[in-house]
Amino acid sequence: MDRRSFITKAGLAGAGAAAATTLAAPAIAQSSPKITWRVTSSFPKALDTIYGAAETMASYVREASDGNFDIQVFAAGEIVPGLQAADAVTAGTVEMCHTASYYYWGKDPSWALGTAVPFGLNARQINAWFYFGGGNDLMNEFYNTQGIHAMPCGNTGAQMGGWYRKEINTVDDLKGLKMRIGGFAGKIVEKLGVVPQQIAGGDIYPALEKGTIDAAEWVGPYDDEKLGFQKVAPYYYYPGWWEGGPALHAMVNLAKWNELPKNYQALLSAASAAANGSMMASYDHKNPPALRRLVAGGAQLKPFSQQVLEACFNASMETYGEITASNPGFKKIFDSQSEFKKDAYLWAQISEYTYDTFMMIQQRSGKL
Ligand code: CA
Repeated sequence: MDRRSFITKAGLAGAGAAAATTLAAPAIAQSSPKITWRVTSSFPKALDTIYGAAETMASYVREASDGNFDIQVFAAGEIVPGLQAADAVTAGTVEMCHTASYYYWGKDPSWALGTAVPFGLNARQINAWFYFGGGNDLMNEFYNTQGIHAMPCGNTGAQMGGWYRKEINTVDDLKGLKMRIGGFAGKIVEKLGVVPQQIAGGDIYPALEKGTIDAAEWVGPYDDEKLGFQKVAPYYYYPGWWEGGPALHAMVNLAKWNELPKNYQALLSAASAAANGSMMASYDHKNPPALRRLVAGGAQLKPFSQQVLEACFNASMETYGEITASNPGFKKIFDSQSEFKKDAYLWAQISEYTYDTFMMIQQRSGKL
């Protein structure tokens, strides 16, 4: 075969392939329509790790669909205020939001179970519950009543217990303490005499500096560092027992979800799961050096005393008793989480706990 006839034959083969592609195109176009969606985040861009989870999810979807399924992310306040993100999805103002379900607990405490409740599951456990313990189905059964389909999309891991202007040694030290503390946890600390305050991120520092409030919890070292709390409230307590593994969700308007082609539903579910793992890994990467910098800058690390933790645990269980007695929807989800938690902590004390404890001792003695 001379070179010329080879090129001609290759050209013909190429033309044949092109014709086949043209013939197949209509079927492909039907399953990959051009769609542009908006996702409203509950978070400002300054909280780059949490806000970034929505960007990660959106970029996977965009790239895997060759740009046909284009999800555009908007920061809190650009379309609706951060705490109204899920309402905007229910109303159909936007197709999606990225939010913490517990922000909406005032409408029904069942919302809180999608993110974190005091002394609930840790990050690893809540994912096991979501994906394999029936959690996603139970939460969606609830979310569907709100016109929403939701997928886990991020986790901060156990948060810190916040910044305090004075030491908290006993339960009495909590009495009258004016504390910025988010949502559902506020209802529980109220039982111990804390006066919970709802204050947006940017207003916390001046309130602590002036002494308008005595304490504030935010997230963990990486995010807290940006707000500079150590300068005005140096006692940095742990753990944040009200947020042992708070999960974020990508929430989709239910009608819009049902209209999506199956391949786009699969894409969005996979992209949310990828962003879910990526956000946790990102915090695990960023928090250790941030904690070192905070301590170098004057933060005084303090564990909550056993007495304080036990009083808070008891107040939490009392609250759950009150809610489950009157809210069967909450009870159904809460009971499922509680059953899961019992065995999860049985296994964890055999596996991770013994391994991690040994390794932490090595870390403390400088052997790692
Ligand atoms: Ca928090």
